[in-house]
Amino acid sequence: EHSFQHPVCVALDVVGEGAALPLASGRPDHWFETDGQITKQPVRAITLSALAPRPGELLWDIGGGSGSIGIEWLLTHPTLHAISIEQRADRAERIARNAAWLGVDRLVVVVGRAPEILHAQPKPQAVFVGGGLSPELLSWLETHLDPGTRLVANAVTLETEALLLQAQGRLGGDLLRLELSRSEPLGPRRGWKASYPIVQWSVTL
Ligand code: SAH
Repeated sequence: EHSFQHPVCVALDVVGEGAALPLASGRPDHWFETDGQITKQPVRAITLSALAPRPGELLWDIGGGSGSIGIEWLLTHPTLHAISIEQRADRAERIARNAAWLGVDRLVVVVGRAPEILHAQPKPQAVFVGGGLSPELLSWLETHLDPGTRLVANAVTLETEALLLQAQGRLGGDLLRLELSRSEPLGPRRGWKASYPIVQWSVTL
């Protein structure tokens, strides 16, 4: 009599033994082939949240690395678009492999250096800088991107961090410092293994 269940409460039965790709951004690192250049899972989750994709938008993922940011952007919604810009051809090929492996056929991979290569690309609504941040790239983005474009940049080196601190002083936006530690075996016991601190700058131009 009262056996009605609202459809959203019914979990799909997942059949078979294969791994299921989680639906939320910040998917485990092992889903991506990498040479070590990858934004790690928890930082990636926070970065996608800062990029805040909305239906139909285009992302530039500058310094694509393994492609994880552009790929997770596209996995968010079928109407999204992304261009991954990577200067190294071997990494660009890896980005394309990762996209194919994860079932994403909308990632455009461009081999080239930012900012030089950016002129030729359609204007985005959101930009992530995961590599190659320099005064030249920053001033190119400031002068060429449309007002309202969302920009997120992550810095791990002191030099890049200094650029972001200056940029926030000039343009505003939010600075977020991420200091994450993960438990690891320490002899017979456990200890906190710290990652390099990451400074994230998010701004709407
Ligand atoms: N967010 C990426 C990792 C970025 S690693 C991921 O999650 O996989 C940074 C990358 O930026 C490197 O692959 C490096 O080759 C690339 N890079 C550095 N400077 C660049 C530039 N000026 N133009 C394009 N790519 C650049």
